[in-house]
Amino acid sequence: MKLVLATKNQGKVIEFKRILAELGAKDLEVVGLDKFPKIGDIEETGATFEENALLKSRTICKITGLPALADDSGICVDALGGAPGLYSARYSGNGDHANNLKLLHELRDVPDEKRSAYFICVAAYVRPDGFEKVTEGRFYGSILHEPIGDGGFGYDPLFKPKGMELSSAQLSAAQKDAISHRGIAMRSIAPYIIG
Ligand code: IMP
Repeated sequence: MKLVLATKNQGKVIEFKRILAELGAKDLEVVGLDKFPKIGDIEETGATFEENALLKSRTICKITGLPALADDSGICVDALGGAPGLYSARYSGNGDHANNLKLLHELRDVPDEKRSAYFICVAAYVRPDGFEKVTEGRFYGSILHEPIGDGGFGYDPLFKPKGMELSSAQLSAAQKDAISHRGIAMRSIAPYIIG
């Protein structure tokens, strides 16, 4: 069976493939959107993570005629009423580094005990026969006062996973997969894909 990953982010493609392979998806040929260069960007116009993930997987399933898997993710900060949330990638309008600076600025007067936050990932799997499945993963922690570590991406250098004394940018890929929002959402959806 062929599965299309509805993302142009090569980091996500690698992560998806790694998790599906670990779960024993032997007869599954996983392809990224790079194999479909004619497909343009899909605008994330949904009002929720679920709507955006479904929007991407439904669109790609319809265009390619193949089963499709998409995810939508972000970071929700309690002291900011859940922001940046759905707008995590576009928070500053100027990329990951500026996003992190903006988040630190917004939280400048917020004490440690009120800096709780979580990453969320919603995964959506859509098949041409109309089958749809959505799963969610959350990764709880808090926002540090300065960036630490140089692994990961996005907000990882500012995120201290609950119960740990380091940032998620200091975790190995395998350590992060084991506890992360994306790892949890992918492991929950994989059985529906593998069958
Ligand atoms: P999207 O799912 O590609 O729309 O990305 C959402 C945004 O949330 C990313 O650009 C990152 O800024 C942030 N994000 C999502 N997952 C992670 C993660 O595992 N680490 C750090 N940042 C993340």
